[in-house]
Amino acid sequence: QGCLYLVPTPIGNLEDITLRAKRILMEVDYIAAEDTRTSGILLEKIGVHNKMISFHKYNSKQRAPELIALMKEGKKIAEISDAGMPVISDPGFILVQECIKNDIAVIPLPGPSAFATALIASGFDAQPFIYYGFLSRKATEQIAFFNKMATFTGTSIFYEAPHRLLKTLTNLQKVVGENREIVCARELTKIHEEFIRGSIGEITNYFAENAPRGEFVILLSPAKEEETISIDQMLVEVNQAVASGM
Ligand code: SAM
Repeated sequence: QGCLYLVPTPIGNLEDITLRAKRILMEVDYIAAEDTRTSGILLEKIGVHNKMISFHKYNSKQRAPELIALMKEGKKIAEISDAGMPVISDPGFILVQECIKNDIAVIPLPGPSAFATALIASGFDAQPFIYYGFLSRKATEQIAFFNKMATFTGTSIFYEAPHRLLKTLTNLQKVVGENREIVCARELTKIHEEFIRGSIGEITNYFAENAPRGEFVILLSPAKEEETISIDQMLVEVNQAVASGM
């Protein structure tokens, strides 16, 4: 019986590949990789030589049935993304859904992911947290998410590209205000790993002076009680809106 392994790969430091991940990558019939060139370099470095099939967001709809057919024939496939966990802001979800529909076992391996790595060193409470992945690039849609984060009493986490970071933090400041604490976790597990901590206002000013470079995870600290709208207050507001004919 074939199966699908979901195999995390390092987010920077090559030593973060697990013993099991390496063994599975060597034992499977095929490795489905988001970018065969990028993964080829990684696999070479960790000493894995195996057949690769390209599987990314643009060919996933057409490629998924082909991979399902292989697994039905009894082939074992390991899915990897460019870095970190497949499915987490990376391709893989469609294939997992298709395997479940077709009664094919999905076997996840634990391993590195940027958001969890950032969260545990952020100093913010990890219970509860919300992970948003990449936010929309549209300011109006971003603001809708920031409204949710503003009153959430847990830690909010998202990814952002360096060239959009300053604009995104400026939008965040408009909604949440300048005083809430944030952490920008940069280049995790790499030489230039850095945690930039401070209020939204301070960090926005910092990046206005020092252009962001590298890969970033952004964490917003939990809302304090007084920053949340209580259900009672919300009901009062809804009733007022209804009464005023909205
Ligand atoms: N699958 C990956 C994971 O499990 O975290 C995420 C892939 S997503 C396409 C790439 C984004 O993840 C980057 O733009 C950045 O926001 C974040 N990221 C990945 N590696 C990182 C690192 N070493 N340090 C900080 N952020 C990282």
